[in-house]
Amino acid sequence: MLGNWKRTDGTQFWFVGAGLGTLAGACYLLRDCGFEGRNIHIVEALPQAGGSNDGCGNPQTGWVARGERMFCRLTYENFWDLMSSVPSLEHEGASVTDDMFAFADTQPVYARARFIDSTGEIMNAGHYGLDRQELMQLVNLLKAQEEELDDLTIEDWFGDPEAEGRHFFHSIFWYCYQATFAFTPWTSVMEFRRYVIRLLPLIMRLPTAEGVVLTERDQYDGIIRPLMAVLEEAGVDFIYSTSVYDMDFAEGDGITVTALHMRDSEGTERTVPIRSQDKVVATLGCMTDNSTYGTTDAAAVLDDSYPLSARLWKNISAKKAGLGNPDVFFGHPDKSCWMSFNATFEGNTFMEWLERYTHNKTGQGLSSTFAEHPWAMELRNPTPPYWANQTENESYLWLCAFYSMNKGTYTGKPMTECTGAEILEEILQALPMEEEVRVQVRSELVSAVPVLMPYINAQFMPRSVGDRPDVIPAGSTNLGFTGQYCEVPGDIVFTEEYSVRAARMAVYGLLGMSREVAPIKPLSYDVRVLGQVAVNLLK
Ligand SMILES: Cc1cc2nc3c(=O)[nH]c(=O)nc-3n(C[C@H](O)[C@H](O)[C@H](O)COP(=O)(O)OP(=O)(O)OC[C@H]3O[C@@H](n4cnc5c(N)ncnc54)[C@H](O)[C@@H]3O)c2cc1C
Repeated sequence: MLGNWKRTDGTQFWFVGAGLGTLAGACYLLRDCGFEGRNIHIVEALPQAGGSNDGCGNPQTGWVARGERMFCRLTYENFWDLMSSVPSLEHEGASVTDDMFAFADTQPVYARARFIDSTGEIMNAGHYGLDRQELMQLVNLLKAQEEELDDLTIEDWFGDPEAEGRHFFHSIFWYCYQATFAFTPWTSVMEFRRYVIRLLPLIMRLPTAEGVVLTERDQYDGIIRPLMAVLEEAGVDFIYSTSVYDMDFAEGDGITVTALHMRDSEGTERTVPIRSQDKVVATLGCMTDNSTYGTTDAAAVLDDSYPLSARLWKNISAKKAGLGNPDVFFGHPDKSCWMSFNATFEGNTFMEWLERYTHNKTGQGLSSTFAEHPWAMELRNPTPPYWANQTENESYLWLCAFYSMNKGTYTGKPMTECTGAEILEEILQALPMEEEVRVQVRSELVSAVPVLMPYINAQFMPRSVGDRPDVIPAGSTNLGFTGQYCEVPGDIVFTEEYSVRAARMAVYGLLGMSREVAPIKPLSYDVRVLGQVAVNLLK
């Protein structure tokens, strides 16, 4: 049980959304702020908590997760802090952080086949392949101020990827950032710059993914379930299948929430009054909103309607200044869309073939990316048993593809229009696999599930300073934000750390607590790191 002193002023804390950010915020309230669970209320549109950290299934019908995550020992400062207070559900006497570090030590990641070319050959990722001009562009980007990068894309900075002689977007350097972090040429160069700076000490490791920390099980079981055990034991009030669609504010210039407007999945409306001493932390946007699923025999159907999480943001930003601009992020589903894919097999033929081909034990290679394939597929085969109910004869493959609107080499169709079976076929044909192995793999298939996520890269859309509101906006007396769309200076979105850090800033800040949020480690300014990076980039 977290927390050893109790706050007696009756303050009620309301969270919108039950993703990792909110769950982290609620844990910090219990651990550090003297809150009792009954005074914490979490409203979630879906029938369960966890947000984008989902994952479920069984060997008979197959397993499905929209995402699969990598963590970093050096840069997830608040995530490790939080999870070291959360008991592991796998190992008695250990925390989730202990579990993850132990797994990283016993199953260290080192990819021997990180990139695969268009002929199925493993590429030499030994040097980054940037020429002198590109290196200067990179140095100039690092020297630039964010204000100079308003609305610019990566291709605005490094040049048209289709132009004659441009090879930045075909360099190992680019493939590393594309495959590891999901950047595409039309995403924000401001965000790309933050990534390069924040992860500078890791640049040397990107081609092998050495040092990446993973969860032993899928992230619903590995992260969300242990957090939920703590929160449910403390009696936190969860309100599911209910979306918050608007807020009322007190008259005047400041920002004081006076009511939350909610609607449940049956259409029943409810208004919750918020007193001036109560607090609200809202998850502003959700990268997996509007996700749709296909099957082995059917493609996923695109839902590019304006998503629920952004609608709340739009409503409140129309009422109060300084709350950012949701359309910048959620107005371009054609650009923010990409897909993931799940395949479950009864049998290990595919995994055994991959082990021979990649020279990596299943899981230890992290991923192999078809860098020159039109869909830019990244294939992952996590260490079994990845799922709690997975046995030795069952295997699981996860894949994401960043250009899923392009036509596949084999299917001749955009990935968005392919059935699960067709996507699997595209993968099998992209690998130099003997036909009899393909036949065996097909016969072992239990299910192949495509997942279409129209807003998965929304947080990477080109933006200007000010498009994201501060975690506690200027003038706010009781409203804060968490998630990937509020501004956390210096940190990088599309990470678990970002939402945990934002939530911690929000709860301490709204309560006026002088506790420290773990600062971003200034590793990129270490002269030894800079020297190593320079040597590696010039190789
Ligand atoms: C494919 C994929 C790969 C990823 N890879 C990595 C990785 O390698 N490393 C890493 O660190 N991170 C990774 N991430 C990102 C990470 O999962 C997210 O950053 C994190 O889950 C964000 O947590 P959150 O709480 O901010 O939002 P979410 O997890 O998106 O949850 C938000 C929740 O709020 C709810 N909600 C929103 N608005 C409302 C409303 N108005 N009313 C009611 N409910 C609402 C939503 O329904 C949702 O459940 C990945 C994500 C995906 C999908």
